[in-house]
Amino acid sequence: MKAKNVGIGIESPKKECTDKKCPFHSDIKLRGFSFSGKIVSMDIHNSCSVEWQRTRYIPKYERYEKRKSKVRAHIPKCLEGIKEGDTVKIHECRPLSKTINFIVVEKDQDASTKVKDN
Ligand SMILES: [Zn+2]
Repeated sequence: MKAKNVGIGIESPKKECTDKKCPFHSDIKLRGFSFSGKIVSMDIHNSCSVEWQRTRYIPKYERYEKRKSKVRAHIPKCLEGIKEGDTVKIHECRPLSKTINFIVVEKDQDASTKVKDN
């Protein structure tokens, strides 16, 4: 199957795959929220846990508190070289399993090079 345009300004990977849960080579459609975060653990069945930090304003103290969000995401077979510690972009889709309703769509190249410079 030829790679389709997922419609959020993301280039399709060059490699083709037969993954039934791939947004580029199957019927899965992307919708809803998009985040970028760090992979904190790799799971079996081509999935991982992605975590990112956000701030929440507390009016009483006029300050921000740090909060973390963590979701599980599916990694399509055509995205190669994704490992623990990488910063990736994830996008919401329909529920793929009990705990997974996000897909890794892109490896964030800029963020990974920034970390190396520091
Ligand atoms: Zn694919």
